[in-house]
Amino acid sequence: MDYRKELLHHLGLKEFVVVDLETTGLDPEKDTIIEIGAILYRDGQEAETFESLVNPRRPIPDFITRLTGIRDEDVADAPTIDAVFGQLEDFLSDKPFVGHQVNFDASFIEYQFRRIHQDFKNWDNTAQRFKYFGRTRLDTLFLARILLPFLPRLKLGAVAAYFGINLENAHRAVDDARATGQIFLELLDRALALDNQIIDDIIHLLFANSARARAFFVPLLQYKREKKIDTPNKNLLDESRLVQSYYNVIGEDAFSYTPQEQHRGLSKVDDQHIRAFYMPEGALSRVVENYEYREEQARMSQLIADGFNDDAIVVAEAGTGTGKSMAYMMPAVEWAVRNRGAGQRVIISTNTKNLQEQLFYKDIPALFAARKGDFKAALLKGRSNYLCIDKWRLVMTDMNQRLSQDERARVLPLVLWARRTRTGDIAENAGFQLENNRGLWQKFIAESSYCPGKNCRFYSDCFLMKARAHARRADLVVVNHALLFSDLASENSILGEYDNLVIDEAHNMEKTAAQHLGVRLSYWSFRNFYHRLYEDEPRKTGTVYQLEFRLAKSSLNEKQSSEIFRLIGKVKKGSLRMRQTVQQFYKPFNAEMREQMMRKGQNLSEMRWRYHKNFRYFRDHEEEIEDIRKGMVQLGRAINELSEFVQDLKADSFMFQDQIGRELSALQKDLLNLQEAWHLCINADRSDHVYWLEVPFNPRNVDVQLNAVPLKVAEILHRNLFSRLRAAALTSATLSVNKRFDYFKNRSGLDLLEDKKVEGRIFGSPFDFEHQIHLSVADFLPDPRNETFPTQLAAFLTALHRREKRGMMILFTSYSLLNTIHERLKPAADADRVLLLAQGKSGSRNQMVQQFRENRDSILLGTDSFWEGVDIPGEALQLLVIPKLPFDVPSDPLIAARMDEIKERGGNPFFEYSVPEAVIKFKQGFGRLIRARSDYGAVIACDNRLSRMRYGRQFLNSLPVSAQVYQQETALLDELAQWFREKENGMSGERPEPEK
Ligand code: SF4
Repeated sequence: MDYRKELLHHLGLKEFVVVDLETTGLDPEKDTIIEIGAILYRDGQEAETFESLVNPRRPIPDFITRLTGIRDEDVADAPTIDAVFGQLEDFLSDKPFVGHQVNFDASFIEYQFRRIHQDFKNWDNTAQRFKYFGRTRLDTLFLARILLPFLPRLKLGAVAAYFGINLENAHRAVDDARATGQIFLELLDRALALDNQIIDDIIHLLFANSARARAFFVPLLQYKREKKIDTPNKNLLDESRLVQSYYNVIGEDAFSYTPQEQHRGLSKVDDQHIRAFYMPEGALSRVVENYEYREEQARMSQLIADGFNDDAIVVAEAGTGTGKSMAYMMPAVEWAVRNRGAGQRVIISTNTKNLQEQLFYKDIPALFAARKGDFKAALLKGRSNYLCIDKWRLVMTDMNQRLSQDERARVLPLVLWARRTRTGDIAENAGFQLENNRGLWQKFIAESSYCPGKNCRFYSDCFLMKARAHARRADLVVVNHALLFSDLASENSILGEYDNLVIDEAHNMEKTAAQHLGVRLSYWSFRNFYHRLYEDEPRKTGTVYQLEFRLAKSSLNEKQSSEIFRLIGKVKKGSLRMRQTVQQFYKPFNAEMREQMMRKGQNLSEMRWRYHKNFRYFRDHEEEIEDIRKGMVQLGRAINELSEFVQDLKADSFMFQDQIGRELSALQKDLLNLQEAWHLCINADRSDHVYWLEVPFNPRNVDVQLNAVPLKVAEILHRNLFSRLRAAALTSATLSVNKRFDYFKNRSGLDLLEDKKVEGRIFGSPFDFEHQIHLSVADFLPDPRNETFPTQLAAFLTALHRREKRGMMILFTSYSLLNTIHERLKPAADADRVLLLAQGKSGSRNQMVQQFRENRDSILLGTDSFWEGVDIPGEALQLLVIPKLPFDVPSDPLIAARMDEIKERGGNPFFEYSVPEAVIKFKQGFGRLIRARSDYGAVIACDNRLSRMRYGRQFLNSLPVSAQVYQQETALLDELAQWFREKENGMSGERPEPEK
């Protein structure tokens, strides 16, 4: 008997059925089954198949037809679910049931079973939902999350592709079921190859007597022990396939690098050498497939090289397709390598994760290959991205005390990953789903006040320390703006000293810097603090509780014991008192602020409210505020006493003494930060700060936030960043306004530099925008401030889409207009069977973009987050509509404060701030249309202020194409149709593949 067959028998899986259903939607109560695919496996081999289309007796939604290919006419003659259900039950009998996200399929079957038997008892109780369908359920998604921690996507297609399983007809039931069956067998092999300690940890986390542990991991471990397979079995597991491709160092062994203290004098970069690199026969051409020489890229690179040579700051705007990342990385590496002895590494900062990953996993490897591996690059993230081994071990050893029942299951995807990861960077673990588990992840990271650095017993293996050490010894260090500005706020404690900086996506610099240099405070800031310090309910938790629990078994003498309990008592009392005073303040405060804001109206801008020194509510509640302040001081003293006492005790007086001592120090530091933030927000007395209240948009969230942000970020950037750098390059596709950089220099503090050359240049795109874009201004629509605007806009958009039938993205500046237009476009979209996606209604941004890409001729309505960073090349997007000029809301507190500040110094805030900000955002939005040389399409701006107001010229002059202004809708539609016709007639044969 082969091992797989033997193991399956041992797991009670001699026979099992893999099931996949196609349905009309996701809700088993409202939606129904349209196709069933089930495969019976016997001894690990496919034995029998059951498949049937099902007549849902209702129309199949269009997006389901697009996804599955199943049309109404395909199921018209198929049996109903009632007719086919008996056969399905016979096929399943009581055999174990396997699926990818198995509860989805199981809940549809369960619902139909209950409907037929007219019994919905306990249906809403998820623990008892599968009462009728009581057979063992095994989920390949659940197993993949644990066993494939480095796989970036865990959907069925991605896991199948990883194992090399053919899934040509994805989203057809029997094909998906077949792929799931093969995946299950592959996962079985990987599970068998786990070492026993890992399986043991998984069983502990799941609780040994739970159904999920007993169905798989408990018998698996028994089998391995019986067969004496206790270490990873290389014959059964190809380890290399589990080792991640993700890594945070490139060129780790490229050379031995020791920065010297001694400044040896700097060697200049030869700009001819830089130019040669890009030439058609140059080094870059040898590593980039279908390489094309781009003059603007070479020129930009030379300018940045000059900046490094001349200790200057370069501001470079580079249009789409210039290849700006390579244009700055090449001179940056050249500079760093030449001057390695003088410690001249270059920090590169990006705003978005996407760009960071593009740099590190695409552009730097290409540069590394072109330069034959003569440099080292490191990717560095903030502390909270890395697993702290000390914390991990602590939680795993003490899981009963430190994890709730629910958290134990959510930790499972970390178990194997924690053993195998080389980076400890949680970004590489898709199965953990960080976005949904941020609170849990906090338990596995080390705050600076907790981490003892070199004194930690895991120091030499520590992921964070290794990443920082690599960053200090690398030529290029890639970070994000958040880390860059946190480092600035902490006086370079993260990045160490550096002389050279490149800031990409620099148009976001002011916004990100303000966020990171300011503070936010709410009831939850306090709530999180107690949760970590001490909490009685809903369950006992927090460091003080851990301490009490551990003291039950300690070597303390009576005197020490009574003293430590006295100090614990003080902390608990202080914590209780502080909690009460904070609650007394926040409960009425939250309610009153929400009420006041609701009275002002519901739109987003009015949910933020600027306040000043002597804010009335705070004045009227001085006593409570003072109580909170005193409470924090007293609690701080109590924690301090307890922390010192614990640290002065003989080592190992009780279990986890060292960690508990460090947790107490971290809490002390947190409380100090809380005190500072409270003082800053409540007193609101710093004239260089802006203060505002923010009521969450979601009415279920009552938590009002206090914000305090520095007003003049430019001065801080000038003082703490640019004036101490030797050379820098700042780049983006949108930095200039009306072809000038004055606005950007002013907002970023570059115009305050007196003894440094700042050179600004615009590098055009290699794309032929004049031929690729038709830009129109719909002058016939009313002024967007006119109340008839939404109605007329919706009518025009319906006519436009009906006429062109192309992918259309509409970029809004507010949810209120987006919602109105969505409502008005919907009837026509439904009638035309067009997929209509709207932000806030159609899932996450990524899901919307993916659906938009996959569904030809659909319509996407997006607000703020769609104006930049969205990349949809090809025919999926050919109509880009900008209904209104993207002016910031002037009542927004931060905007209002910036405008006030301009007014106070005699300037004109509209022309000096509002217009240039809107121009930059307008350019960002405009840039969504053309992402590749082969793209073409139309931008339709519906705001007639572009053609009627003088400042409209600034917007149009900032774009790379000239605009046609239309006084009549028919003229616009006709000319557009003609333009598209000519484009398409002029294209010979097949369209070239879109380029990135
Ligand atoms: S050195 Fe600090 S971050 Fe690293 S494992 Fe130890 S405590 Fe955690």
